[in-house]
Amino acid sequence: MSSLGTTIFAEMSSLAVEHGAINLGQGFPDLDGPEEIKAVAIDAINAGRNQYPPGIGIPELRQAIAGHQRRKYGMEWSPETDVLVTAGATEAIAAAILALVSPGEEVVLMEPFYDAYYAATLIAGGSPRAVRLRGTDFSLDPEELRSQVSGKSRVIVLNNPHNPSGKVFTREELLEVAAVAEEFNLVVLADEVYEHLVFEGSHLHFASLPGMRERTISISSMAKSFSLTGWKIGWATGPANLVSAVKATKQFLTYVNGAPFQPAAAFALDNAERLVPEVREPLRAQRDLLANGLASLGFNLHPCNATYFVISDLGPATSTDSRRFCLDLIERAGVAAIPTSAFYLGAEAPVEVRWTFSKQRATLAEALDRLGRVKEW
Ligand code: PMP
Ligand code: GLN
Repeated sequence: MSSLGTTIFAEMSSLAVEHGAINLGQGFPDLDGPEEIKAVAIDAINAGRNQYPPGIGIPELRQAIAGHQRRKYGMEWSPETDVLVTAGATEAIAAAILALVSPGEEVVLMEPFYDAYYAATLIAGGSPRAVRLRGTDFSLDPEELRSQVSGKSRVIVLNNPHNPSGKVFTREELLEVAAVAEEFNLVVLADEVYEHLVFEGSHLHFASLPGMRERTISISSMAKSFSLTGWKIGWATGPANLVSAVKATKQFLTYVNGAPFQPAAAFALDNAERLVPEVREPLRAQRDLLANGLASLGFNLHPCNATYFVISDLGPATSTDSRRFCLDLIERAGVAAIPTSAFYLGAEAPVEVRWTFSKQRATLAEALDRLGRVKEW
């Protein structure tokens, strides 16, 4: 990845449409989230909540975000000063990096990484550095992490649960990140949009680790927890000084966002304990279906304990170019996936592919069937 061209997600999605391929590339569900949540948004539109909401988000949503963090993680945040509603997690990421990083400063990423961090760093005039997650479990080596941190580092981005791998970081790994953040006085941007989509084990909220509350901006959104990716309602939480810096940037990016969706997001968060399993449990079954199916076709998979995604090698194919493999796959099998090379800074990225299981079982079964019909890889 060397410039800000078309994102790999947009490229593969548009090729999938063009070729009538089943899209296991870009992560979005083919079934909307709970009807009850949609009904609140529809009512809000009909009730006339269609003009600019407050820039920091409507009070009921900021209270719901703070309430959710209190119930789930035991964190206390002021809805007035410590919570900011954004246009999806994407805007929270961009606004945070633009607010914190000046030209010449560095942002530490963990590759493979979600592309928005890299792009926002370049837009801010900063330099991305990357520590590579290695091995079957995409493990973080603390020494390698330290080797990428310098006096110019400002921010470390931690995406947990992790896109594209489906990894959940261990407590030990998170404590290493915390130790480095403390030692080098870094802000941690904790992108936790998959906080609710953990299938084995549980999610450890980074800001709740000792000493991390004061230096962490936590980011989440409606997209994944409630299968409403098109609503673009996200949020950032953290200490008032960091959140107000993000707010200062956000007001000139979108100013405000998503008036009628905000009451619906508040309703969803207030009822998260009841509504999230409706989203998570089908996903777990979908993960099993796709992972088992790919394995039986000869693909070797990394373990996946969370998110929408699983990574495999190229299976029966002999290609050494994952991008080429994905382009061919769309035409020859009618299935789209994402080459993970798009998520690495450097050359010599592993030759691997990311598949999403955020599709209904029948869709996944049809995709596996199509892959099974490929005669010559
Ligand atoms: N972070 C990660 C790791 C993601 O996978 C995504 C994609 N949904 C986002 C951020 C962006 O989320 P949103 O759609 O809320 O902007
Ligand atoms: N987060 C989703 C993915 O990783 C969607 C990406 C996007 O739309 N930019 O596929």
